[in-house]
Amino acid sequence: MVTEVAPGLHRMALPLGIHGVESVSAYLLAGGDGRDTLVDCGIAAAPTPDGDPGPDGTAALESALRACGSGLERIERLVITHAHIDHFGLAGEVVRRSGGELWMHRSTELDLAKYDDPDEAVDRRELMLADHGLYGPELTETSRGLCDWIPVMPSIGRPGTLLDGGERFTVGDRTWEVVHTPGHSPGHICLWNAAEHLLCSGDHLLQLVSPPVTFERGFETDPMGSYLESLDRVATLGPELVLPGHGPPFRHGARRAASISRNKLRRLTRIREMVEAREHTVTELTAELFPNIATAAQRHFAMAEILAYLAHHEVRGVLARERRPDGVFVWRKPGV
Ligand SMILES: [Zn+2]
Repeated sequence: MVTEVAPGLHRMALPLGIHGVESVSAYLLAGGDGRDTLVDCGIAAAPTPDGDPGPDGTAALESALRACGSGLERIERLVITHAHIDHFGLAGEVVRRSGGELWMHRSTELDLAKYDDPDEAVDRRELMLADHGLYGPELTETSRGLCDWIPVMPSIGRPGTLLDGGERFTVGDRTWEVVHTPGHSPGHICLWNAAEHLLCSGDHLLQLVSPPVTFERGFETDPMGSYLESLDRVATLGPELVLPGHGPPFRHGARRAASISRNKLRRLTRIREMVEAREHTVTELTAELFPNIATAAQRHFAMAEILAYLAHHEVRGVLARERRPDGVFVWRKPGV
């Protein structure tokens, strides 16, 4: 569960279990002076799909920290790559018990507002999905994914330091720079160590899956555009070793960023061609592109990612939408 990926830099695979994601990778940057930095922190519990409450996430974090020769009392700083609950759920608890500082990007306030009022967030999502053609029990179920996560976050961590990107801090012998990488989430950051070409990538770069980029009303107008720019930013750095938010570290970060970018661009083209050939609603695109959707969570991800592609085309005037008399948006080539 704990591996030292470089001297004084430990990966801790912490249990998750929600929505089919097995674990989240948190990292301990050892200060060598009893003052350590933690990057991401996992969740309070890891319930199994059959209703078993699962392993105690707080205990899992504590024992992982001990295995790295650290402990909550030594955490002087918790840096959150992005405020999705799998990376952030325990943040309030870690800060309360360690007395350390919580560092997060300024734009994570959008996520915090959502956790403060999850009912409002669910309503907003429901309105958005209804506008794009979903209705009935499927609509209700698809909108409620956030509610699966709320119980695994015992309190909402409040950042003491708001980041903009560009900040530097030193832990032990290493200096890290905060790199703002919006896309997967508007407040997403990576941590970059230029001397050894190490990148803590959160969910911005993952090895085995193309990180989801989803549209959420009230967040960014073009998250896909931001994501593609952030991929370029990180590729330019040329990371030798990437320490991702899920799964083990991997090499050749620039190559991986380019491959994810190609995948997103291919999908952008595919969706543009489908809509140019014939007008589509988002539910129609979802059914054609993802015929095997099995769960409400998968349906939400599929629709919200398709919306991110469509929004990218919309802001560039490549595709346009219009409300049909039944209230549902239909997407087509502009001027048709
Ligand atoms: Zn994640």
